[in-house]
Amino acid sequence: MNIIPKHPSIKGPTDMFSGDVYFDVIAKGESPSRLRVNSVHFAPCARTAWHCHASGQTLHVTEGVGLVQSRGGDVIEMRPGDTIYTPPGEWHWHGAAPNHFMTHLAMWENLSEDQDVPETTWGEQVSDVEYRA
Ligand code: MN
Repeated sequence: MNIIPKHPSIKGPTDMFSGDVYFDVIAKGESPSRLRVNSVHFAPCARTAWHCHASGQTLHVTEGVGLVQSRGGDVIEMRPGDTIYTPPGEWHWHGAAPNHFMTHLAMWENLSEDQDVPETTWGEQVSDVEYRA
């Protein structure tokens, strides 16, 4: 058994996030596990850039009020207890609502070493017009 002490939170890189975003690594499975779980904390209006995950991603909101959108879909509000699944290759973004902090767990599987594609593909930032839609 490993008891893993709390590490310092990591600032979300500015090419992947806009606004103040910090995350904590909750689980990073050792091979053969490919488990990945991060707790991601967004300040109001902070959000990811557009992106998609090769193995899909499950989000579970633990705190605050958030927004999520798939490419071509409506901006959807998400609240504590809500779980959102984005299938492999589906472009989307997620973040905090304008006047609320939001924390979610992000859960996905890393790719095996013989899969020669990125785990997450990142695109452009979510514009204010898209965010406010
Ligand atoms: Mn995502």
